[in-house]
Amino acid sequence: MTSPDAPALSVVVPAYNEQEVLPEFHRRLAAALEGIGMAWEVVYVNDGSRDTTLEVMLGLQRQDPRVAVVNLSRNFGKEIALTAGLDHARASDAVVVIDADLQDPPEVIPALIAGWREGFDVVYAQRNTREGETWLKKATAAAFYRFMQRIGGKVQLPPDTGDFRLLSRRALDALLKLREHHRFMKGLFAWIGFPAKAVRYDRAPRAAGTTKWNYWKLWNFSLEGITSFTVAPLKVATYVGLLTAVGAVIYLAQLLVRTFLYGNPVAGYPSLLAVVLFLGGVQMMMLGIIGEYLGRIFNETKQRPLYFTERYLPSRQARISPTGAQASAKPGITAEA
Ligand code: UDP
Ligand code: MG
Repeated sequence: MTSPDAPALSVVVPAYNEQEVLPEFHRRLAAALEGIGMAWEVVYVNDGSRDTTLEVMLGLQRQDPRVAVVNLSRNFGKEIALTAGLDHARASDAVVVIDADLQDPPEVIPALIAGWREGFDVVYAQRNTREGETWLKKATAAAFYRFMQRIGGKVQLPPDTGDFRLLSRRALDALLKLREHHRFMKGLFAWIGFPAKAVRYDRAPRAAGTTKWNYWKLWNFSLEGITSFTVAPLKVATYVGLLTAVGAVIYLAQLLVRTFLYGNPVAGYPSLLAVVLFLGGVQMMMLGIIGEYLGRIFNETKQRPLYFTERYLPSRQARISPTGAQASAKPGITAEA
């Protein structure tokens, strides 16, 4: 739902401990959106930061009427912070999702808007280079995307693409209908479909602050991606089981023939142990995979709200409405389903 005085464009920025970079981000964003010919707002989401990120956002909101602030009740993680921002985006035409750390250059946004004006609903920014990242991170990211492409089936993730993208209002409305708790945003963006276009850009190193990722988190993120995207791993058990059973039957036949021909000198304790351990390991692994899905089913069935907002301060003007009416802040705690 959009009101008559809604801005045409909302820029959604999730931020966790980004006090150093936010003022510079806002300056560059405002400069980049200077000549786009659309009324815009920026929705900053404070994802339970432990530094002064909220104060910085509130300061920006006081100075600049185009700023909206959503303060979450605690840290919920980037994917949910992003969703909270999208829920609060008032734009009538399009939204842009961008990181606060300036790794996604705001200067690319006019190119995204140009793609949208050509008629595309989803215009995603595709990285040329990953400056300032180790080869190991680049290699693991590349392997992950290749793997996801193999198992993706009908829903294909574009490679070298993060969350930085533009969505038309109707694509956003579609996305907001997906309320699952395990939110692998790249997968959700791909799942909604709609005409999409890539715009290439160079990804910059982080401007300030530190990344919140480490390899354990990335591993878990990949698991999240795979398990919320496809049930293919569940089928692995079927085929590994089938293969093992066929192998066992052949082995048994061979054993019978040997016993009839040469008698049965009892040997092979080590091989027995190896087979038992191997099969035990495979079974545990398969149980683990089932567990990953089971845990997600458990979390989804609780049907909890995705997040709570501690406060929401809407942007005060975007398109000056004829009556000069201003949206006022909703006081108190509001829950979002
Ligand atoms: N972020 C967030 N909540 C979190 C972690 C990160 O809102 O729990 C935000 C962060 O402030 C940044 C964006 O998500 O704007 C991307 O985070 P980061 O730069 O750490 O990830 P990377 O660029 O390494 O993927
Ligand atoms: Mg970053």
